[in-house]
Amino acid sequence: MHRPFYDRSLLIARALWRRLGVARRTILVFAPFALMTILAVGCFTFGDRRDERVVEQVDRQPPKIVTDRLVRVRLLSAAKSKPMTLQLTSGYELRAGPGGPVIEAAAPPLSQCAIAPAPDGGIMIGERIYPQNDLLITPKRDASIIINGTSTYRGLLRIARDDSKLALTNHVDLESYLKGVLRGELPKHFHRESFKAQCVAARTYVLYQMKSATGDRTFDVYDNEGSQMYIGVTGEGPKALAAVDETTGEVCVWPNGDVDTLFCTYYSSACGGQTQHVNNVKPRDPDVPPLAGRVVCNDCYLATYYEWDPVTISKADLTRSIVKRYPSVASIGEITGLRAKEIEPGGHIVRIQLDGKNGANETLMGEDFRLCVGGHKLKSTKFTIEDNGDSFTFSHGKGFGHGIGLCQNGMEVKARRGQDYRKILKTYYPGAEIRKLY
Ligand SMILES: [Zn+2]
Repeated sequence: MHRPFYDRSLLIARALWRRLGVARRTILVFAPFALMTILAVGCFTFGDRRDERVVEQVDRQPPKIVTDRLVRVRLLSAAKSKPMTLQLTSGYELRAGPGGPVIEAAAPPLSQCAIAPAPDGGIMIGERIYPQNDLLITPKRDASIIINGTSTYRGLLRIARDDSKLALTNHVDLESYLKGVLRGELPKHFHRESFKAQCVAARTYVLYQMKSATGDRTFDVYDNEGSQMYIGVTGEGPKALAAVDETTGEVCVWPNGDVDTLFCTYYSSACGGQTQHVNNVKPRDPDVPPLAGRVVCNDCYLATYYEWDPVTISKADLTRSIVKRYPSVASIGEITGLRAKEIEPGGHIVRIQLDGKNGANETLMGEDFRLCVGGHKLKSTKFTIEDNGDSFTFSHGKGFGHGIGLCQNGMEVKARRGQDYRKILKTYYPGAEIRKLY
């Protein structure tokens, strides 16, 4: 007889149940627990999966480009003539310079390719030639600009042709810019209070540069020691991010009567024992109390170049390097003698006299003399001069950098002793106050 399918299934199930014998009781006791466990694990598993999906979505949120306070940073200022490459990891809008007409509203991401001045005018990006000499790239996502395969930048990129060279300028939000400056300026082992002091000094410095800019400059700061070292996203570590966050909008001012005056917060690696007056190096800068120098610093003695080794330079080489920068010095003939004409109490040479072979002489600012020789060779203007006949030896060198304002190595020792960033800044910029601008 042909039984329906469900009857057969029921019979098979009953047969199996009988064969299980004593195991039946165990199954009956534990079945509810097993069922609950399966349900619970299922819930947790689904719960986890939902959370993963949420995290993924959060990660995929494209970082927005903030353009509240744009800083224009001239990139690769030290390597203008070298071949360059560009990569854009997100889609982008292309305009003919800031405020110019749109060339491409939604270009796709760009793989790494060469950028160069086109042979017959315009700018070449990969295979494509744009007849314009000024391009502005606005990526759809932040931190999408990669230059030369290694340096990643936030914000926008302007590519402008200047004769046979391209000038690259990164337009970036001020607070994002600072994240890329801190690790350019400080080693990562420096104290968090040092990072904060450096951040406030760097913010004030760039705002001062933006405020006091004259003419139709297309950028505010260089990305090198000429302004502040800026290394883009590559430099963003936890200490740098925290320092920018915790000091957002804070600047140094000089409370001049009722008016808070922004001043140029110069800083250098190691003052060598005492800071010097701003006008010893920058004669045209405003003479404000926070930059009057003569701050005794007993804290940078741990710096690598607190004392530097003697440097010997032939008189012929010295003459060449000075004439290269100051052609008029050629008129005195080869430099046969050097004399420190004015020395700060802290030891920085303010003015130096150059005696020429033909009996005439010239005077240079000590810092200008140092930069002619090379800022990394003559590490400061604190040295003694020895005449060896056909060469000079610069000995007893102390400190690294111009020695105005904040001493970075002194700051670090103070921070490790427990001083907070406000106290450190007020020490190196006497009379300064910290204000929150925004
Ligand atoms: Zn110092």
